[in-house]
Amino acid sequence: MAKVTFIEDRCKGCGHCVEACPKKIVIIRKDVLNKNGYHPAGVVETDKCIGCGSCYIMCPDCVITVER
Ligand code: SF4
Ligand code: SF4
Repeated sequence: MAKVTFIEDRCKGCGHCVEACPKKIVIIRKDVLNKNGYHPAGVVETDKCIGCGSCYIMCPDCVITVER
């Protein structure tokens, strides 16, 4: 099963990864602030991740790792 992880303190909350995910499981976590004061992205329902890497490719800040 694919595994996707975010280094949330690097995230600027731009939302590119949210738009890129074909499974619509990446969200901006409005209930969380990272150390730089941004709402970071994260994944819900990780079991639905297909490991396509679209979120990883779109992130300008190297926040995301996808393992297959
Ligand atoms: S690897 Fe693909 S399916 Fe998994 S969270 Fe990223 S964009 Fe979505
Ligand atoms: S693309 Fe990267 S910086 Fe932008 S919200 Fe997603 S994880 Fe954060």
